Amino acid sequence: MSHFQYNIHHQDPATAARRGVFTTPHGRVQTPGFMPVGTQATVKGLTIDQVAATGAEMILGNTYHLALRPGHETVRRLGGLHGMTLWQGPILTDSGGFQIFSLEGIREVSEQQATFRSHIDGAIIQLTPEHSIEIQESLGSDVAMVLDHVVALPAEPDAVVDAMERSIRWAKRCLNAATRDDQARFAIVQGGLDAKLRAECATELSSLAFEGFAIGGLSVGEPPEEMYRITAATCPHLPTDKPRYLMGVGTPIDLLENIARGIDLFDCVMPTRNGRNAMAFTDRGQIKIRNAVHREDTRPLDPDCHCVACRHSRGYLRHLFIAKEMLGPILLSIHNLTYYQRIMAEARAAIELGRFSEYVAKKKKGWLSQPTTNAETRG
Ligand SMILES: [Zn+2]
Repeated sequence: MSHFQYNIHHQDPATAARRGVFTTPHGRVQTPGFMPVGTQATVKGLTIDQVAATGAEMILGNTYHLALRPGHETVRRLGGLHGMTLWQGPILTDSGGFQIFSLEGIREVSEQQATFRSHIDGAIIQLTPEHSIEIQESLGSDVAMVLDHVVALPAEPDAVVDAMERSIRWAKRCLNAATRDDQARFAIVQGGLDAKLRAECATELSSLAFEGFAIGGLSVGEPPEEMYRITAATCPHLPTDKPRYLMGVGTPIDLLENIARGIDLFDCVMPTRNGRNAMAFTDRGQIKIRNAVHREDTRPLDPDCHCVACRHSRGYLRHLFIAKEMLGPILLSIHNLTYYQRIMAEARAAIELGRFSEYVAKKKKGWLSQPTTNAETRG
């Protein structure tokens, strides 16, 4: 019996939103679900208990970063990502593709491999699809992503087609190289902003024995409507009985818009990165906690949030950032991750009730409203 299963429990009647459960060797993931990003085998600034307390069930690690430092052999000898971090739940690792193509260290892409320069010591490194899988097997993640060829958008049509076709050939090589049956492989659909290419790529990959499918190469600066258009054009060509993962997305609105188009899993640095930069997500839009209006604001970030940050006043949180105390970024990271998990939980409940569109409309109304503060109303 397979270590991996994906079961859909509810299908929203008015949209393509699905409510499911993804079963892995390290436990189950409720979908739609959001994975916090632990680039260097740590969700920046947070202990694993704090990450778990936000409601996260599955986290992400970055193959590129971990292969360069401390090295995947070292990770393996320290017990893999699970042994090293003590995270008990499922872990997904990316393939390194996005980083080597986006960090501008890329030197050359041939049919055999990608050659790039390490951002740490400048060393020339070659990554093949087979090596990417070997590294991820050493890391011991539950889900390994295939190595794909990502092109920066906008790109010439020929370059997009070439990268898409190479990504399919590399996906097959990844499947052939895999040796662990306790690790799932997810394929990655490429094809830029061309709906026809995306459909073609999705159809081709769907014929292969992958446990899940991702949409890559989006959230790279294109307008949100373009991203939604591509998601909508891709999902109908993916198997209905496998999880669909939209890589690197996004804002709270992006999450809901893409769930409505059939996406099950997300990851993004936004909640933690914005948290470190003193920005908090709430139902009434974003709060920039460094702003002077919060100086003596006694209210929490969000009265409906049960996270540890929301036991404090906005005035205290602002003070922590102004005083450059490390607790400020930690607390706002916790709040934002908790907020993202709450959106996912609410979305799941709305799909179960068959009222997802209604839910999305309500959330958007709040997010697009202008947040007011005590200080502002006091003048
Ligand atoms: Zn909170």
